[in-house]
Amino acid sequence: MKYSILFGPPGAGKGTQAASMVENYNLCHLSTGALLRSEIAAGTPLGLKAKSLIEAGNLVPDEVVEGMIASRFASAPAVAGFLLDGFPRTIAQAQALDAMLKERGEEVTAVVSIMIPDEMIAQRIAHRATIEGRADDAAPEIVQNRIDTYHQKTEPIIGYYSAAGKYHEIDGTGTIEEVAGRISALMNKF
Ligand code: ADP
Repeated sequence: MKYSILFGPPGAGKGTQAASMVENYNLCHLSTGALLRSEIAAGTPLGLKAKSLIEAGNLVPDEVVEGMIASRFASAPAVAGFLLDGFPRTIAQAQALDAMLKERGEEVTAVVSIMIPDEMIAQRIAHRATIEGRADDAAPEIVQNRIDTYHQKTEPIIGYYSAAGKYHEIDGTGTIEEVAGRISALMNKF
């Protein structure tokens, strides 16, 4: 099984690119953001717990997302692998993922990182707010908190996977098709 991670700041285009990647490479898409939003929409206890954290632009606790991922691995569909999107987002989550995969005799295949400059993050999220109506996209101070959280808690993961020789960065600027082309060129190597 392949376990690829789609990495990048909020608004880098992970969700958009994931859609074609899962089709092209027969992967199961696991987006912790999307899973959390469906828990919120369904009004589950987990959703209620996550709602205020997400809407303030903070991360939900590591154990919550780790549990969601572990249960999806346990009921693995007939696919060539998984595409993790929005997970891991902290060093602790990256370590938990390594432990989960080790138990299964598996390991992370590759980290595909979509990089865009900070100014573009805010622009893209402002544009998405007009289309998708996500509560955490609406207010500039919440978006700024997500960008700060990304730099403080998520960016250190780059060093973690670089040390393991698994980190690969692509330029996330340009059209959707241009970025997709760069991702395919990379994915075809694994
Ligand atoms: P984006 O990539 O645009 O920030 P996501 O849809 O990936 O959006 O995530 C939305 C929110 O869900 C995050 O800001 C965070 O509050 C929560 N979330 C998603 N994934 C995780 C995670 N792995 N750990 C903690 N919180 C998460």
